[in-house]
Amino acid sequence: MELAFSEADRAFADEVREFVAASLPRDIRERWADTANVLFASRDDTLRWTKILHERGWSAPNWPAEDGGPGWSVIQRFIFETETALGGAPPLQNQGLKMVGPVLMAYGSDAQKERFLPRIVSGDLYWCQGYSEPGAGSDLAALGMRAVRDGNDYVVDGSKIWTTCAHEADWIFCLARTDGSGRKQEGITFLLIDMSTPGITVRPLRFMTGVHEFNEVFFEGVRVPVSNRVGAEGQGWEIAKYLLEYERGGSFLSHRIRAHLQRLRRLAEAALVDGAPVARTPAFRARLAALESSLEAMSWTELRLLDRVARGQRPGAESSVTKLLGAAMHKEVTELAMEAVGPYAHLAADPAEAFANALLPPEGVRNASSRYFNHRANSIMGGTDEVQKNVLAKAVLGL
Ligand SMILES: Cc1cc2nc3c(=O)[nH]c(=O)nc-3n(C[C@H](O)[C@H](O)[C@H](O)COP(=O)(O)OP(=O)(O)OC[C@H]3O[C@@H](n4cnc5c(N)ncnc54)[C@H](O)[C@@H]3O)c2cc1C
Repeated sequence: MELAFSEADRAFADEVREFVAASLPRDIRERWADTANVLFASRDDTLRWTKILHERGWSAPNWPAEDGGPGWSVIQRFIFETETALGGAPPLQNQGLKMVGPVLMAYGSDAQKERFLPRIVSGDLYWCQGYSEPGAGSDLAALGMRAVRDGNDYVVDGSKIWTTCAHEADWIFCLARTDGSGRKQEGITFLLIDMSTPGITVRPLRFMTGVHEFNEVFFEGVRVPVSNRVGAEGQGWEIAKYLLEYERGGSFLSHRIRAHLQRLRRLAEAALVDGAPVARTPAFRARLAALESSLEAMSWTELRLLDRVARGQRPGAESSVTKLLGAAMHKEVTELAMEAVGPYAHLAADPAEAFANALLPPEGVRNASSRYFNHRANSIMGGTDEVQKNVLAKAVLGL
């Protein structure tokens, strides 16, 4: 087994690094890599960067060539994700590229593929995910949003909650109940809904740090053409689980943690303790080394899982391993950043004045506490840690 990257892989890494340095607009880099205290970049920044990548043929890194992707190998995808993250680029839109895109490829009609896939690749569509409801989070199959057939439409009534980016999205993919008579996993249907349809109301929910990323979405008599149903009526649970495998582990997470680590190293060089950089203290070095080792181990697990996908298999329940590891490491790396800068971590919003006489450069410290608090959410979104452990216990360990 060859564990080192080949010469061609290293040349590809150089190519991506150079492209990002030359093509990522400075304002996007600054908003995302230097000052962001959010989990997702804005719609404008995400789609602008997607369009720039599209011109190069790189806007759907995880997609096969026949669907508009570059048709890269797993190693190339890993390199691309890593180099773009380290270069300060915002993430591409998961909901389009890593959730509904793969679902349409596997379950969509030809008309749906033709209608949606090219516009996801070109950065012309922004999606959100309507799974969770009040009372249906971990127990997703308990969802109650109803879709009742009326001629060539479904009439949808109910609500979704924690819907990331709903206030900016063009479309939402939803799980709705079309039949309540059988087991709760039955009678669920997967629908694509245009967010501009009459009867949809979006209300913001704010993080404890004040950030607005997710929302409540209310549906009152919303008419959805039957042609926007993916798969058969009642097939929604099967499709939902397929999508969750991709959301949890069918894509890379390690590059995001690698970008946090890069920022953390800079931060710890600038932050002083007893007149010396925090980065030189044995306690910090030990924790950084432990994190870096865990990240390398996680990267290899990701590569193994993604290699399985590349060979036509599904990520499977093991995707819960990388979801769990990623959540833990996101927490740890943002916690270590808070500790490295100590009380400066709380100087969040406008650092100019606050830092006039401070020892630390503003760009190193800004938003350390917001990042810390916001990344607590990693062990909830996409399914909680406890749920991932249940999946592993049942499906991998056979307990
Ligand atoms: C930042 C963020 C973004 C999100 N974005 C979206 C989005 O875009 N679209 C969307 O649909 N949803 C989204 N979610 C919702 C997310 O999927 C749910 O919050 C998650 O599935 C947990 O559901 P819940 O909040 O209802 O908690 P609950 O399911 O009520 O869980 C409460 C607690 O009980 C534990 N628990 C529950 N069941 C079990 C069990 N069987 N065994 C052991 N422990 C259990 C959980 O681990 C948790 O600690 C987002 C959440 C966050 C935090």
